[in-house]
Amino acid sequence: MMTVPASIDLSKGLVLGTRNAGKLRELVALLGPLGIECHSLDGLEAAVEVEETGSTFAENAALKATLQAQALGMPVLAEDSGLVVDALDGRPGVYSARFAGPSADDAANNALLLNELADVPDARRTAHYACHMTLAAADGSVVATSSGQCHGRIDRKAHGGGGFGYDPLFLVPEYHRSFGEIAAEVKAMISHRGRALRAMVDCLRRHH
Ligand code: IMP
Repeated sequence: MMTVPASIDLSKGLVLGTRNAGKLRELVALLGPLGIECHSLDGLEAAVEVEETGSTFAENAALKATLQAQALGMPVLAEDSGLVVDALDGRPGVYSARFAGPSADDAANNALLLNELADVPDARRTAHYACHMTLAAADGSVVATSSGQCHGRIDRKAHGGGGFGYDPLFLVPEYHRSFGEIAAEVKAMISHRGRALRAMVDCLRRHH
């Protein structure tokens, strides 16, 4: 984690800079034990739609945190995450949410992923999730950044209805289960998002 000197006041809570319901659920559960009040973008009239114009997860996380914080005048924690598939040279990567098109849903993205990997043998179906986080103060200055990864394999069919996004296809070898089958508490322990958030916990505690 990189920390730069900037002050942040979390006494009035922290805005989570995402409209993705799956991410929000996981971030709220991870932040709950810290006792930090979390606000979603819904209901914040000054919230802006930040375009993800960066070419890396880190750039997009920084854009989402800093531009939203400037618009709201509140501290924002934002993340950019996605699935990096080795046999697809790292795709879908930063385009994970829009793999099958600008308004694609999880089902369409998963179907396209299975299709693109149809001829790829099991041994070459390795992949990882990546998550980069940025914590921005109310003036938009970056207070901390962190990242986390979680390695696995893309199965040939969906398993389980838990999680979100590509989770039913993402097999975690240590558990012989997909993220769609693993309990949310276990996913929080080993996921890219859980790891990235824990790398930032000291910083969040210091400012709370
Ligand atoms: P973002 O909102 O641009 O960061 O895109 C995130 C996208 O990456 C999601 O819409 C999913 O497609 C994928 N993704 C990221 N994290 C996860 C996860 O924990 N499970 C499943 N899919 C994920």
